[in-house]
Amino acid sequence: MQLLDGKSCSQQIRQEIAQEVDAIKASGGRVPHLAAVLVGNDGASENYVALKVRDCAEVGFESTLIRLPDSISEQELLDKIAELNADDAIDGFIVQVPLPQHIDEKKVILAIDPSKDVDGFCPENVGNMTLGLPTFVSATPNGIMELLRRYQIETEGKHCVVLGRSNNVGTPMAILMSRNANPGNATVTIAHSRTKNLAELCRSADILIVAIGKTEFITADMVKEGAVVIDVGQTRVPDNSKKAGYRNVGDVDFDNVKDKCSFITYVTGGVGPMTRASLLQNTLKAHHRR
Ligand code: NAP
Repeated sequence: MQLLDGKSCSQQIRQEIAQEVDAIKASGGRVPHLAAVLVGNDGASENYVALKVRDCAEVGFESTLIRLPDSISEQELLDKIAELNADDAIDGFIVQVPLPQHIDEKKVILAIDPSKDVDGFCPENVGNMTLGLPTFVSATPNGIMELLRRYQIETEGKHCVVLGRSNNVGTPMAILMSRNANPGNATVTIAHSRTKNLAELCRSADILIVAIGKTEFITADMVKEGAVVIDVGQTRVPDNSKKAGYRNVGDVDFDNVKDKCSFITYVTGGVGPMTRASLLQNTLKAHHRR
């Protein structure tokens, strides 16, 4: 079994980006600028956004954190997005989800200028990804593709089962793996909560990508000998032994599954850091395009 080390891989990517930023600075250019909109005080969202801001500083990007109260109206948030769309100093921005219930996430996504949509959630960017055209690919699937690429994992002709069909992870992941590219060219099955014979299906996977948010759902009997297993899941579970009072648990029962795998990610230092690195790559791309 080889651990797919997203932490060191993402460190490499950050170094590459930092070098590009140095070159931009040396030529007197403006550095890339990412803005993040955080509505309310959700603990996990606070944490994710803080990490994104820290990542920007590390590679030399400028960043702006816009905090809005969860009492903000949908229209006020849409107005803020219009402001960011028009702001020439900002290359790209994200609106951290989940949003408060009274705000329609779809309306928010549709309001973002696709050229600044570094999360890759807008229909135009999803469409471009599907057609294999230049675009911003959603950060988590993009990070997973980068991990597969950097570890030179053979995907062509393999059976890839993607568990989960969300718009930001499962669906784009399945599209990317099925495209005529490397990594890609896999035969892909998307599974979800209505899928029958799930264990059997998972056992037929050469590459199993799990994004469902159900702790340790994938057990050893669901994994083929020699499979590549990518665990996207990240669920906070209370844990008083930790300083934060919780620990993150993945969708895969790592301890019991790992010995069956050729490659596997762990919940910590796996997909998460690659997702963050992808957001930086998308921001740099947005900067180059402008
Ligand atoms: P989501 O929007 O809640 O989607 C979950 C998907 O899993 C849905 O398609 C759902 O099926 C499916 N599902 C739920 N229970 C299932 C079951 N028992 N059997 C089969 N399929 C089941 O979640 P998401 O945004 O994709 O995130 C999934 C997980 O990844 C979460 O733990 C999240 O925190 C984590 N995540 C991690 C990163 C990272 O960077 N590490 C990034 C994004 C997300 P239906 O469509 O039928 O309901």
